[in-house]
Amino acid sequence: MRNFATFFFASTLFAVILWPAVELSAYTTLGGTLPQSERSVRLYNNFADPTANDNDVEHPNFPGALGAEVAIWKACVEWSSRLYADGTGDPAQNGSLGSGGANFDTFWGGNASSVGGSNDNIMSAVTACSSGVLAYCETPISNGWRIRFCESHNWSDGPGYDVFGYCLQGVGCHEYGHALGLGHSASNPATMYPTISGSGIGQRSIYSDDIDGVQYLYGLTNSNKCEITAAVVSGDTITITGNNFSSNNNEVWFTRDSTTSSGSDPRLRVQGQSSSGGSISLTIPNGAGPGVVMVKRSGSGGDDLSNPWPSSLIELGLCDPDIYCTASANSVGGGASLVPGGSSSLSAADLSFDCYGLPANQYGIFYYGAGQSSSPFGNGVRCVAAGGVGTFRLPVLTSDAFGSVTYALDFNAAPVASGPGALTVGSTWYFQYWYRDPAAGGAFFNLSDAASATICR
Ligand SMILES: [Zn+2]
Repeated sequence: MRNFATFFFASTLFAVILWPAVELSAYTTLGGTLPQSERSVRLYNNFADPTANDNDVEHPNFPGALGAEVAIWKACVEWSSRLYADGTGDPAQNGSLGSGGANFDTFWGGNASSVGGSNDNIMSAVTACSSGVLAYCETPISNGWRIRFCESHNWSDGPGYDVFGYCLQGVGCHEYGHALGLGHSASNPATMYPTISGSGIGQRSIYSDDIDGVQYLYGLTNSNKCEITAAVVSGDTITITGNNFSSNNNEVWFTRDSTTSSGSDPRLRVQGQSSSGGSISLTIPNGAGPGVVMVKRSGSGGDDLSNPWPSSLIELGLCDPDIYCTASANSVGGGASLVPGGSSSLSAADLSFDCYGLPANQYGIFYYGAGQSSSPFGNGVRCVAAGGVGTFRLPVLTSDAFGSVTYALDFNAAPVASGPGALTVGSTWYFQYWYRDPAAGGAFFNLSDAASATICR
């Protein structure tokens, strides 16, 4: 028989109840705690209300997430052992997200593919609930939980105070309190108080009684708790700085780059990492996405797992190729133009080029190199140089009857996939099209303008 820890909205009830002015330990517990292996939170974003996914401005502390995802992510990190990054991201808490102060932290696992089972640690909307219920958490929690928000109410994701109906983040923060083992509190206005009178914005920030509760369940943050204080991405490497890592055999957990199936482990775990001077540096694994990183040192205690730290894992703005250099006039017009397609993301592997304004039915090749140039060559200008690495030719193409060619780079074969011309994360390359133009006379060949592309994850 499963239990349901519910959250009622009967605002008329608590107006007539008088509580003592000072209350100690008003929190209650459900029985059990969440083991270290059950610390992930995912969202199945099936909310029907448009206001549940209004927020379309990405905050740097919540990379890769918008709308309800951000509301739920924030709801959970409020219970963190320490400030979540710089603590910003919620206007209602003034830079203090991350207030638990216990040996308890949460892993943001991103999106799940369905509501999942009752132990899959996924939040989602549900169409029907008992009368008066806003949301509920399915317990017991010691081997996982499931939280549902009732669609009979209107949900808003914030992040500001413009909440229509109920605040997903505030109610989510209350429900996650159940997931970590707390029952309802008799202390008003604790987040774990059983009813809310307004929209629930006040429940976003946990109160002293809630903090007492999480500290009772998991212990006050140990002075030697594993802790992250920074995570910096450079090229394909992430350097995580902090305190109390193991010298060997740390695990680094990454949020994955795509939706995960509900029964699977959302953590992308890299094991066997050593630390040096308070930092861990490693190559970012394939499949890691924007989200959080966490470090787990040897051991299964709450203090052996670090706080979560946001990591975009993408060098923002570097995924779009740029055009440079100029095309020279040819036999059919003012010159041939290069148009990049897709992106320069290595994981997307969809970079392609069109070239138009070419003489019809003529041979040509795309080529690339590590440097830029601007020197006369044939009837045009060479815009690509070896840059100390080399230049690399792609397959011979023939322009069509309209004077166009298109080519999608082959990310599974040399020179793009391997060797000195490999498109690795963080490398910058310059692309141009060389083509035959017999009708123009002169050198009988010419070149397009060019594109530069820095390869991101
Ligand atoms: Zn409740």
